[in-house]
Amino acid sequence: MTSKLTSTVFNQGWHCNALQCLSPHFNQRPQAEVSLLVIHNISLPAGCFGLPYIDDLFKGCIDVSADPSFKDLQGLTVSAHFLIRRDGSLTQYVSCDDRAWHAGVSNFHGRENCNDFAIGIELEGTDDVAYTDKQYQQLVSLTQQIQLQYPMISLDRIVGHCDIAPGRKTDPGDSFDWQRYRQDLTNS
Ligand SMILES: [Zn+2]
Repeated sequence: MTSKLTSTVFNQGWHCNALQCLSPHFNQRPQAEVSLLVIHNISLPAGCFGLPYIDDLFKGCIDVSADPSFKDLQGLTVSAHFLIRRDGSLTQYVSCDDRAWHAGVSNFHGRENCNDFAIGIELEGTDDVAYTDKQYQQLVSLTQQIQLQYPMISLDRIVGHCDIAPGRKTDPGDSFDWQRYRQDLTNS
């Protein structure tokens, strides 16, 4: 028996199985269009996993004195729609119908300001540490659910942050196995 998805898990852009952690860092999309998926990585401090600082950063309440590397984060207003932690757990910060602030200066096929029409997924990780099996499983499942709800996001409109901000961003890095991800997306 197959288990192809037929109904949506989204309600007004919110994933019904994600832990909600509301970020004030969002605004309205200029158009309703949602047609691009951007994969990122993040860890705070860099290379440390399982800590609360990513939530705090996106919520706008990070204690910049908690680590010397955080001083650059002072006043930063960023967010993503989703975070997938090392254990595969899923957190959502911004409704997918709204514009989260993850891509920054960016360009996809000549079109700038990718935040306007993109959904951003952060993987807890770094450019050089392999992501976990649970992260790939959750990412594949989430991607399929997103594609069902936002059908303009075709396979060729799923990119890394590095692809839309080359020279400025490197995530999700060499540690991300695009071949595995794409294969799992088409085979499951
Ligand atoms: Zn990024």
